[in-house]
Amino acid sequence: MFDLRTVRLAVGDHHRETHDVTIPPFTLGGLQYEADPATVPADFAVTRLRSGFVFALRFDVHLTGPCHRCLEPAHIDESIRAEEYHAFNPEPGAEADMTCEYLDDDRVDTDRWASDAAVLAMPFQVLCREDCLGLCVSCGANLNEGPCDCAPTVEDGRWAKLRELHVSTEERGPAA
Ligand SMILES: [Zn+2]
Ligand SMILES: [Zn+2]
Repeated sequence: MFDLRTVRLAVGDHHRETHDVTIPPFTLGGLQYEADPATVPADFAVTRLRSGFVFALRFDVHLTGPCHRCLEPAHIDESIRAEEYHAFNPEPGAEADMTCEYLDDDRVDTDRWASDAAVLAMPFQVLCREDCLGLCVSCGANLNEGPCDCAPTVEDGRWAKLRELHVSTEERGPAA
């Protein structure tokens, strides 16, 4: 939480400080992720313009949680660079776009802002490593630890059949 009343800013003034932010564990796609450590130092800056405030929040965070393919712990490093504008007199109807939702009663909720920014920066696919082999769809074995007994025969057979079908459809070309 940063209290704007602790700094006196004239138009054009800029204030910058190091400010700890805490990111609580969050759920994404039914899986739980957490920052480790949960509290990290952030670089917080506020600039007063004639029309409003510009807030900037920068921090690096390390997150852990399940890999989307094998469910083993994955590690994600994020470099957050977030900016918010808050107009003193937003145009009617444009309040949501022209105000900072983290500013309330002269205080900026830097924890909530940092948490939202960390969630937004999560990769679409969380992987323990780029070439994670995932789990066997038949027996559930972690294929990163070695092949299971069922994988080669069942899966390869099915895919080969599908590929044959696909090729023969392409050869025939689009239906006239
Ligand atoms: Zn994995
Ligand atoms: Zn298997």
